[in-house]
Amino acid sequence: MFESLSERLGGVFDRLTKQGALSEDDVRSALREVRVALLEADVSLPVARNFVKSVEKKATGAAVTKSVTPGQQVVKIVHDELIDVLRGEGEPGSLRIDSAPAPILMVGLQGGGKTTTTAKLAKRLKDRDGKKVLMASLDVNRPAAMEQLQILGTQIGVDTLPIVKGEDPVTIAKRAKTQASLGGYDVYMLDTAGRLSIDEELMAQVEAVRDVSNPRETLLVVDGLTGQDAVHTAENFDQRIGISGVVLTRMDGDGRGGAALSMRAITGKPIKFVGLGEKMDALETFEPERVAGRILGMGDIVALVERAQQTLEAEQAERMMKRFQKGQFNMNDLKGQLEQMMKMGGMGAMLQMMPGAAKMAKQLDDAGMDDRVLKQQIALIQSMTKAERANPQILQASRKKRIAKGSGMEVSDLNKLLKMQRQMADMMKKMGKMGKGGALKQAMR
Ligand code: GDP
Repeated sequence: MFESLSERLGGVFDRLTKQGALSEDDVRSALREVRVALLEADVSLPVARNFVKSVEKKATGAAVTKSVTPGQQVVKIVHDELIDVLRGEGEPGSLRIDSAPAPILMVGLQGGGKTTTTAKLAKRLKDRDGKKVLMASLDVNRPAAMEQLQILGTQIGVDTLPIVKGEDPVTIAKRAKTQASLGGYDVYMLDTAGRLSIDEELMAQVEAVRDVSNPRETLLVVDGLTGQDAVHTAENFDQRIGISGVVLTRMDGDGRGGAALSMRAITGKPIKFVGLGEKMDALETFEPERVAGRILGMGDIVALVERAQQTLEAEQAERMMKRFQKGQFNMNDLKGQLEQMMKMGGMGAMLQMMPGAAKMAKQLDDAGMDDRVLKQQIALIQSMTKAERANPQILQASRKKRIAKGSGMEVSDLNKLLKMQRQMADMMKKMGKMGKGGALKQAMR
């Protein structure tokens, strides 16, 4: 599912890289794909629509810089916008638990991972923040749920409120508060009952508990795999109870992360943590960067960007090869080659790969052609006018003097460069004549 998104975007960006600048049409066609991809990643329609609108505004107005391709630019804008939408206020994973004992109310539907998350979070608060934590289960309808929390508590070394049969949730919440104060706990966590779906009785119960405990944090735990359902659940709980944050569980599954985007955009509530497995330490703070990568395609934006870059380079090489075959090799070409050599680890390395040029490579090596020389040569070419670069033959004494002076070098250095350009032009011509699929073509690969 994810592949289809990166593949689709890849296709659009391949097309984009063939052009020099971002036109409105480029952006629009790319964003059509982005929109479909978002919908497929389970982002709700209004959110996807708004998202695309916002990216379009930024992308169309964006100045196209030389160092990145238009495709890269769109990817970057989409990526940054995803992070923007996902990022809530405040530090990720921060909780208001300053005034001891601070109550944390855990709410959500049954099976969403509420009890597991309560224990995970308690462990985190104990291990990371050194807090003394008390957990209490308010699920009076399911004795098994109360026992589950108790077992987890023993496992992670966190106290649980002793189970007293026949108590109602509000009474348990009050007892937890008293126990937390007397026992010197920093935090007490109330694991409320869940239902299979939202019903009035459940909401009334959670509301009553909220009113007696006055929680510092009310965290909704929802299954991230349920996509839009998770968002609806969050809307409902927020309207009725008022939540301060969300924990998305099962983010270790193959869900596409779209729920996270809609969650943030629709409810406006921060996603504080994500559950990444059944183990007690499988809880992490929510990182927008990671989810953005996931929505955009397996976190592989970098690969996408590189692919776009490669396409561009391949085309440039192809164009250059055609020119060389016609025996055209001016100072611009030489500059391109020199820069390429710098990138590839020096002149020797480059020429070694070209059939017939090994001898020349050795000569250059012997002459002490290292990166410093390459830089000087590039500087010489940069001091030339456009016309001089295209037609080095026009370089007479006065022009040569000007160029040498402009780049802080001697005329003799420039003469060496000119000789090299002529030799390379000759060589290119010869190799070009070897025909298609000949030496030059192989060398360019
Ligand atoms: P509750 O009814 O909301 O309290 O749900 P539970 O905490 O009992 O969790 C239901 C099931 O989901 C259990 O088997 C958990 O181990 C599992 N679970 C909870 N969180 C995660 C998670 O982040 N990833 C995975 N893979 N499983 C989880």
